[in-house]
Amino acid sequence: MRSYKATMVEPVRLLDRADREAALREAGFNVFNLDSSDVFVDLLTDSGTGTMSNEQWAAMFTGDEAYAGSESFRELEAAVRDVMGFERIVPAHQGRGAENVLYGALVTEGDVVLNNAHFDTTRAHVAANGGDPVDCPVPEARDGDSDHPFKGNFDVETGRRVVEEVGAENVPAVVLTITNNSMAGQPVSVANTREVAAFADDIDATFVVDACRFAENAYFVQRREDEFAGESVAAVAREQLSYADACVMSGKKDGLVNAGGFVGLRGEDAAGRGPSGNPTQSDDDLYERCRQRGILFEGFSTYGGMSGRDLAAFAVGLREAVEPPYVAERVAQVEALCDALADRGVPVYQPAGGHAVYVNANEALPHLPREQFPGQALVCELYREGGVRAVELGRFAFPDTDRADLVRLAVPRRTYGPDHLEHVADTAAAVCEKGEEVTGYEVVSEPPMPELRHFSAELRPVDENAHAPSQ
Ligand SMILES: *Cc1c(COP(=O)(O)O)cnc(C)c1O
Repeated sequence: MRSYKATMVEPVRLLDRADREAALREAGFNVFNLDSSDVFVDLLTDSGTGTMSNEQWAAMFTGDEAYAGSESFRELEAAVRDVMGFERIVPAHQGRGAENVLYGALVTEGDVVLNNAHFDTTRAHVAANGGDPVDCPVPEARDGDSDHPFKGNFDVETGRRVVEEVGAENVPAVVLTITNNSMAGQPVSVANTREVAAFADDIDATFVVDACRFAENAYFVQRREDEFAGESVAAVAREQLSYADACVMSGKKDGLVNAGGFVGLRGEDAAGRGPSGNPTQSDDDLYERCRQRGILFEGFSTYGGMSGRDLAAFAVGLREAVEPPYVAERVAQVEALCDALADRGVPVYQPAGGHAVYVNANEALPHLPREQFPGQALVCELYREGGVRAVELGRFAFPDTDRADLVRLAVPRRTYGPDHLEHVADTAAAVCEKGEEVTGYEVVSEPPMPELRHFSAELRPVDENAHAPSQ
């Protein structure tokens, strides 16, 4: 049951089918180009799309807009220290700003960065700095039927093999993404975190946790990893993050805000309070390099592209993210959507991830060859059929990978009710029922960086007559 009630609402409407068809055409069959007012249930992303609490709105009124030394920055610093255990932060406007700060400081031409699976912006930032992003998922990650409890884990064997090939000196960073967004939002165990930390230590690499969904991940650990049964989500989160040398955080996920981010680092905080780990000279060097890059790209080190009120709401949101009723209901809502889809025969990746349900478009639309982007066809059809906006995370988003064509239905935090999600499940079932009537797509224009293709490419249906507006 929801652990909150709505005291502010925003109307949504379902356009007529003909208007949805026209909007989709106008958008070049890329749902990133749709106006949100033309979308009924928006599951494009859980990033910055959630609902803030009354406490967060109240905190915004006390935002300190000072350029330097803002009180609101101190509040965020304290929340990060208490909730996540990092003593120092370099603030950024959102997660990718933090990635630019950190990976620009760590990665140089010819380097290799290892990750359980790079998220799209992470991959792009490693590549933009001349690095080669290599994924090391466990084999179970690719199996949507395996009931392995931690399919987000990092496969250290794969990591060691890559290091043997390229040399440890060329691997400056090992990254663990929790939960693993590009692998169906699957969680990572604390045991695996310890193993990856030891591996990074062995090869003298900086161990980075991409902590965007650290609270959702901690909730899975509490439920699935024996050692942590009976521990609080907050205690698990601190334990898991304690092994990292650095973290990248997007406040738009488990920060429960609409914008914001930071790099979390080890060392003494401004008040001289000591570290929980062992800060080394290299911790200080890394902090200083990040701080300078932060000033260059994001803004001075006590705001980093956020307004004072953003900082204040972020500080409150981080503390709310590990509260048991919130995080339990959040993950349960995603699981309920997954069950509703499975009950209707929609081929979903199981078990559900923490923030999203992934539909396998190769199974849903088996008549479409992979070159015709079955994932994107499913995305277009969900909008046509029910005004539902999802996102493709298969061949269209990741041109060079052999991954399945998954479509992600990401659930915004504290935003939709069970009736909305029921509508989504009914819509997806109706699309699957249409089967071979659904046409494939081809790309008509795309941007120069393949890593960013799905944000702005335009497409057209292979069979122009498949969805004549009169239907
Ligand atoms: C969202 C996300 C990012 C980037 O954060 P933004 O705030 O969208 O820039 C990085 N890593 C992961 C795993 C993410 O989900």
